[in-house]
Amino acid sequence: MPYKKHVIFATVVTLFSSGEAPVLASGGKSHWGYTGHEGPAQWSKLNNDYHMCKAGKKQSPIDISNAQGTKLGNIDFNYKANPKNIVNNGHTVQVNMDKGSHIVISNKTYNLLQFHFHSPSEHTLDGKAAHMVAHFVHKAEDNQLGVVAVLMNKGKANKVIAQLWDNMPTTAGENIKLSDNINVNDILPKDKAYYNYSGSLTTPPCSEGVNWMVLKSPVQVSDRQIKIFTNIFSKSIRPVQPLHNREIKFSM
Ligand SMILES: [Zn+2]
Repeated sequence: MPYKKHVIFATVVTLFSSGEAPVLASGGKSHWGYTGHEGPAQWSKLNNDYHMCKAGKKQSPIDISNAQGTKLGNIDFNYKANPKNIVNNGHTVQVNMDKGSHIVISNKTYNLLQFHFHSPSEHTLDGKAAHMVAHFVHKAEDNQLGVVAVLMNKGKANKVIAQLWDNMPTTAGENIKLSDNINVNDILPKDKAYYNYSGSLTTPPCSEGVNWMVLKSPVQVSDRQIKIFTNIFSKSIRPVQPLHNREIKFSM
């Protein structure tokens, strides 16, 4: 059903990134990137809809330091469905999910839409970035977005990344159907303690109200696996943004 696939692809990519693929020509989106005159410092000038990238006071990513230890609800991960496809959207590779995977935090359910990668990590811990990060993008019934960040440091090869990279779409707009049995849970660290704060999308339109959960424990990924990604996406991060009046909590 190529039509259905096309529609889902357009919706997800328009919400969380945008730019290169021809299906995105409508909808008031502009070309953006990570360097030069399309880079992060210019995003607000590229399109009126991107004004929050400059005007926002709750932007992401941030440097995480001085987090307050707090009783936060555990993140209950229920990732069941297989990934559907892997897409090169011109900025990163994004794995789109079929319905059926979600997280629950304090009785609120967020459905997993997609996950994608950046290298190095966008959030930093005490000023230090991880070598790579996976962002799991969820949406609750009230439309709030919740993003779980899984930090990845250089070490052993990662099984899930190996399965995904075997299907790596190397050119912008390329979309590869995933047929392998990929268990997304295998990418998560055992310890699910997390940092929590209210932020934004880290790509235009930089919309705020995003519930960020950055897992404290990193997982491992091999040097070669990082290089396969950075050879295609040499720049994929927005710099850290001012914290302003926000509190960062740490789950105890
Ligand atoms: Zn991201």
